[in-house]
Amino acid sequence: MLRRLAELVYPRNIYCMRCGDTIDDSRRHGLCDVCIRCIPWAGENPFQAYMDEFAFDDVWPVVRYGAHVRGMVHGLKLHGQTYIARNVGQLLAERVLMESASWHVMTAVPLHREKQRRRGYNQAAMLAEYAAAELGVACRTDLLIKPRVTGSLRLADSRMRRHMLADAFKVPDCKRREIAGKHVLLVDDVCTTGSTADACARALKEAGAAGVTLLCFAASAGYRKGEDA
Ligand SMILES: [Zn+2]
Repeated sequence: MLRRLAELVYPRNIYCMRCGDTIDDSRRHGLCDVCIRCIPWAGENPFQAYMDEFAFDDVWPVVRYGAHVRGMVHGLKLHGQTYIARNVGQLLAERVLMESASWHVMTAVPLHREKQRRRGYNQAAMLAEYAAAELGVACRTDLLIKPRVTGSLRLADSRMRRHMLADAFKVPDCKRREIAGKHVLLVDDVCTTGSTADACARALKEAGAAGVTLLCFAASAGYRKGEDA
């Protein structure tokens, strides 16, 4: 229902999802010619050199996070521009198809119930649902919950974030059986410090997951160089 409403309010690919210019419906990713060229497409795991610090096993990003994509990310997360999710979900699905590694179940980084109620949607779950639909697989957004409210992580460094997120995520007891021995594909919109994905991966592994790969739209390990927080 929500999705159908979004289609009405924001019809498929009439405006470029990055700059807002008019485009025609043939643009598969909802991007104009200029934007599709200036987006920093990134296939590499930006955390490759620091993987021993994290509970996740791999990261599959679509773009490098930074000023070029910040408007799209904020539009999706903060301004209810949920039509962006459709195009980004499609990009995520294509990113998955670039990999030969196998995985068993797709889920998304959850929001605290109260936060989701206020925002009206969970952008990560929307991305996962669109990506799963594109891939023809099921998306299980009920495998992780966030029972505890965490303060704003925006200004916290990665050590502080890790402390704030300890035990913030949980696999409900009734779902543990579905995760045991499985490789989980965890979807999020943005990953900069890796702390949120790490906390989710810890919860999933504690529940018996054999592996966790983060599939995210925008990622950078730039905080290490003092760029994005
Ligand atoms: Zn554009």
